[in-house]
Amino acid sequence: MSELNKTYEMVFKRMIKETDEIFSFVFEKPEELQWIPGQHAIFRNLECKVEGDKNYRIFSLASIMEEDFVMFSTRITDESTDCKKKLLELKPGDRMTAEDPQGRFRIEDFNKPTCLMAGGIGITPIRALLQHMDFNCINPKKLRVLYSDDRGDFAYEDTLKWINRKYDGLDVRFISDRHEFMEEIENFAKEMRNNADYLISGTPGMNKAITDKLTSLGVEKSSIKTDNFIGYK
Ligand SMILES: Cc1cc2nc3c(=O)[nH]c(=O)nc-3n(C[C@H](O)[C@H](O)[C@H](O)COP(=O)(O)OP(=O)(O)OC[C@H]3O[C@@H](n4cnc5c(N)ncnc54)[C@H](O)[C@@H]3O)c2cc1C
Repeated sequence: MSELNKTYEMVFKRMIKETDEIFSFVFEKPEELQWIPGQHAIFRNLECKVEGDKNYRIFSLASIMEEDFVMFSTRITDESTDCKKKLLELKPGDRMTAEDPQGRFRIEDFNKPTCLMAGGIGITPIRALLQHMDFNCINPKKLRVLYSDDRGDFAYEDTLKWINRKYDGLDVRFISDRHEFMEEIENFAKEMRNNADYLISGTPGMNKAITDKLTSLGVEKSSIKTDNFIGYK
């Protein structure tokens, strides 16, 4: 197998029910697996044999290497594919594989004002970005996190609130109203314009709508990074 596409076997440890629909899956960290906060990987469930479907999905790594475990989180509802529902059957000791993590969804400069925007499950890479910041005790200059969920069901709520309390340059806002979410984005963009970076994580549709909004306010595309959760509508 090529070095570029290495596969790592991971042992399942436990599942965490984050909200009614969001579940985190925690694995022992394979010694050789390395990743940068904000990256995603292909996770394969070798036990999942669903006719006509692949046995893998792409998920963001919600944990950081220093936590010494691999964690991804996903939304599972009655409408989810069988492949995702099968994750709920994992037992401690079961194995999945991860492939080399990819992606460049990251905070370039903690001294530059930055707005992180997450829609629903799009919060997963942002958990890793904030854990990394906290692990390194970085007080950012002006880091705004706008986390929107229509149902008001927020994953990692305690962790995010705990980190938020520790840094005066960080401002995490939990928003359950879509209009308020767009308003908050608009307020930040009007204040900071091109003096900030903008990172958006969520469905391709949401990411496009926010990108359009930001560019209509004069934000240059080069200041906007998106993490597109292809697969969610
Ligand atoms: C970079 C990235 C990071 C992601 N991170 C997460 C995460 O942290 N948590 C999470 O829950 N989900 C994440 N996703 C989405 C995840 O991979 C699943 O698609 C999603 O969870 C829905 O799963 P599903 O099994 O219900 O549907 P899926 O079977 O995955 O997809 C549903 C529909 O989308 C289409 N589709 C799926 N993948 C692609 C593709 N690559 N190109 C074009 N069409 C496609 C399928 O054909 C199908 O019609 C991420 C996706 C990407 C690309």
